[in-house]
Amino acid sequence: MPSQTTPVGIDLGTTFSVVAYLDPTGRPCTIPNAEGDLITPSVVLFDGSSTVVGKEAVKAASMEPDRIAAFAKRDMGSMFYSKKVGGENLPPEVIQSLILEKLKRDAELKLGPIQKAVVTVPAFFNEPRRKATQDAAQLAGLQILDIINEPTAAAIAFGHQIGFLDAKGRARDKETILVYDLGGGTFDVTLMEIEGTDFTAIATGGDVYLGGIDWDRRLADYICEKFKEKHHGFDPRNDAAGLHKVLKEAEDTKRALSAREQLTISFEHVGQGLRLPITRTQFEEMTADLLERTRFTIRSVLTEAKKEWKDVTRLLLVGGSSRMPMVQKILEEESGKKVDRSLSPDEAVAHGAALYAGLVLSKENATTTTASKPAMRVRNVSSHDLGVLSKDPATGRPVNSVIIPRNSVLPITKGKRFRTSRAGQKDIAINIIEGGDSAGRNATPIGRCLIQDLPPDLPAKTTVEVLFTYKENGMLKVEARLPELQRKAVLAIERASGLNEEKLKEWDQRLNADRGKS
Ligand code: AMP
Repeated sequence: MPSQTTPVGIDLGTTFSVVAYLDPTGRPCTIPNAEGDLITPSVVLFDGSSTVVGKEAVKAASMEPDRIAAFAKRDMGSMFYSKKVGGENLPPEVIQSLILEKLKRDAELKLGPIQKAVVTVPAFFNEPRRKATQDAAQLAGLQILDIINEPTAAAIAFGHQIGFLDAKGRARDKETILVYDLGGGTFDVTLMEIEGTDFTAIATGGDVYLGGIDWDRRLADYICEKFKEKHHGFDPRNDAAGLHKVLKEAEDTKRALSAREQLTISFEHVGQGLRLPITRTQFEEMTADLLERTRFTIRSVLTEAKKEWKDVTRLLLVGGSSRMPMVQKILEEESGKKVDRSLSPDEAVAHGAALYAGLVLSKENATTTTASKPAMRVRNVSSHDLGVLSKDPATGRPVNSVIIPRNSVLPITKGKRFRTSRAGQKDIAINIIEGGDSAGRNATPIGRCLIQDLPPDLPAKTTVEVLFTYKENGMLKVEARLPELQRKAVLAIERASGLNEEKLKEWDQRLNADRGKS
């Protein structure tokens, strides 16, 4: 049995989650769950004070849709999950933590106690979503070694599989890899350079609201329209059980159309039936705009990286939805190159996370022992502009002062100087935002830092230096200095979304109490 310090890599997916560890030879292996499956549906059934996660929860979904939480990853960073579950508004972190807890518990059957993990997130996840992921892991009793981006993890798995070092440990040729990751609920494109043992993300883009579920919904709408035509306007989507059933039918059809050119859908709801022939071409036509959105993202990532297709040496497909033939088609059509399907789309991310967990741990150990130097170095880029919403002193209009522009290589520390607007200001609020235009429109508020108890006679135009440190894992630290007063403050961010410390503690206690009961 591997040692108790064995860390795991967790791909906490929108639809499925996977856990992997490194075997004693350093090879990443997927750990089956208690049901014996390599992937676990990211679905939770709330059954009174107890919860069921995975396949059994999926089975119950059509009978008890109001007690089911699925796709919670899409809501990470929001206050509450998109619908009430069992009559209660739940934070998405809590739902994700229950999934993580099941993964942890099941992996422990094989590995013994587990504490340390690397958890992956979409590259395009913003800071609040990353923070929420970290909080979910904490609630599940996991110590996060790091949070890394899913495409980076996939590239690591790939680098490992093809052997990015020769037998003597020397670097091979430099690769520029485009990772196209279309999962169940999110889409990411990342351009990575692998040179010897260095993995550097050079640009990233994506859409947190685009994934396999959107293809399912299109097909479900089509089935329902035809159902309505046949059954005098009766719409299966009108009740939760019908909606669930038609979505399931749509997903099954979508998967089948990845392997077959055409088939006939047989759908039945409350005694009414429908047989509907459908071809792959029809399906591709009804979802063409979704695929086009991915093409748009690919183009903008290449532009931002100042690269052309001729610079890209490999196209890597990850995420279950990349199995749709239309994905391969659009990529090959766009690039004029063949895609690489050598990775298992379901397991690659967890495997890369396990390899990375091994790397982080060996780094930690290297500081206390004479262990050999870690084999790889991973550098990521930020996925959104990070800045401060301030006021233009001349016009009083809001201004987005970007401090760390998107696609900056992490870690990075950067600052900007601001001036107070009025004399005698008692406190200064620093409003941190992510994304948005030059006036801060459409930006995501990350939170607010407050410098309080300023001297009573603080003159107007006092300098305030704001320093952002953006760590490799996409988490932010903010410092503010008033050099004229020689005051410095490391600021705790009062978060605009997600759970605050107090709520996190409350949930921790509640989940512990529930664990005690079950
Ligand atoms: P992931 O989040 O990477 O596990 O991807 C899950 C998504 O992949 C779901 O939307 C699945 O419906 C989709 N998926 C899995 N297998 C296939 C397939 N053979 N054809 C089309 N979509 C698939």
